[in-house]
Amino acid sequence: MKVDYIIVGLGLAGLAFAEQLREHGKTFVVFEDNSQTSSNVAGGMYNPVILKRFTPVWNAVSQLDIAMPFYKKLEEKFNSQYDYPVAIQRSFKSIEEQNNWFATCDHPALSEFMIPKVFPNDNEAVNAPFGFGKLQHTGRVYTKKLLNDYKSYLKESDSIREESFDYEKLVFTDEKVKYNDIIASKVVFCEGFGLKQNPFFNYLPMQEAKGELITIKALDLNIDYLLKSAVFVLPLGDDLYKVGATFNWKDKTLEPSEEGRKELVEKLETVINVPFEIIDQTAGIRPTVKDRRPLVGMHPQYKALAVLNGLGTRGVMIAPTAAKMLFELLEENKEIDQEYSIERFEK
Ligand SMILES: Cc1cc2nc3c(=O)[nH]c(=O)nc-3n(C[C@H](O)[C@H](O)[C@H](O)COP(=O)(O)OP(=O)(O)OC[C@H]3O[C@@H](n4cnc5c(N)ncnc54)[C@H](O)[C@@H]3O)c2cc1C
Repeated sequence: MKVDYIIVGLGLAGLAFAEQLREHGKTFVVFEDNSQTSSNVAGGMYNPVILKRFTPVWNAVSQLDIAMPFYKKLEEKFNSQYDYPVAIQRSFKSIEEQNNWFATCDHPALSEFMIPKVFPNDNEAVNAPFGFGKLQHTGRVYTKKLLNDYKSYLKESDSIREESFDYEKLVFTDEKVKYNDIIASKVVFCEGFGLKQNPFFNYLPMQEAKGELITIKALDLNIDYLLKSAVFVLPLGDDLYKVGATFNWKDKTLEPSEEGRKELVEKLETVINVPFEIIDQTAGIRPTVKDRRPLVGMHPQYKALAVLNGLGTRGVMIAPTAAKMLFELLEENKEIDQEYSIERFEK
């Protein structure tokens, strides 16, 4: 079998790169072994403001300009909804925070998103004595559904192999690579935290950050916005809410933990004051980089190998931009923005 590309990993990064290839009429085959879960469990939220200190998220506005049409096109392709616009309400802890909010509302890149007003809390189920700051044009991408649909589509065209990619089996021939029965021009590695097992790219400084989420049923909560306080509470419909997320820099396992659940419950109880039942718990490892920037580029020695990774906590917004950059580098020899490029790290 001859293809232009092999893609290793079908998370948000692999999917975004596969779409670049499809749009440009390139052939490819994807390897996926379900060894990582980040894209499947992600809250999927997109929002250009850091809600802890009301500062702009790095490059978010330009990333959203590429990401929103990207998800829209996939909705049309699969005749399904993935983008669920939802306003975010950040509860204020003090008058000082309210003042900080107003100060940031004037930021030229953020004025379209941040509403310069304090919204009072009118829901007794929520603890928010200082009211809320409200963000608009924000939302959530239902990543799990998108990835499931994409996988089915790849299966139909026989473009996915549901197995582990074994790095040792890669053979380099003139200008091409060979992997079992496949001859390809290039391999793009999109393994998320699985990068640690990749002998070609594991020199890149990935600092994995495990995250856990719970799904609760709370009949009396009745919120239709994404509540951000000590945790986020994301309405899913039918009185179900996703609550998250933890950050654990030590635990590298994918299993949900008792510790994670306890932390989320304790924090949630400071945010809402109605009964809830936990109906699910999930975990994943965010592929985070030391300097919190993505990892995009070609291997310094093996020009047939490339990487698309380091999406960290914001894969939904970054993946479409990073995939576009990588495609333009590999096919059009265009330079990558240095903040995205792996050239910032020496091998
Ligand atoms: C709890 C949690 C909440 C999050 N919330 C948000 C959010 O609200 N908004 C947001 O934008 N981001 C969020 N993120 C971050 C987001 O999930 C990541 O940025 C993104 O999913 C990373 O995508 P990826 O494709 O690089 O990696 P992954 O999703 O990890 O995908 C890599 C894929 O490669 C496969 N793979 C690895 N090695 C191999 C191999 N050798 N052979 C074959 N297949 C292989 C894995 O099985 C996996 O499917 C969250 C993450 C977590 C954990």
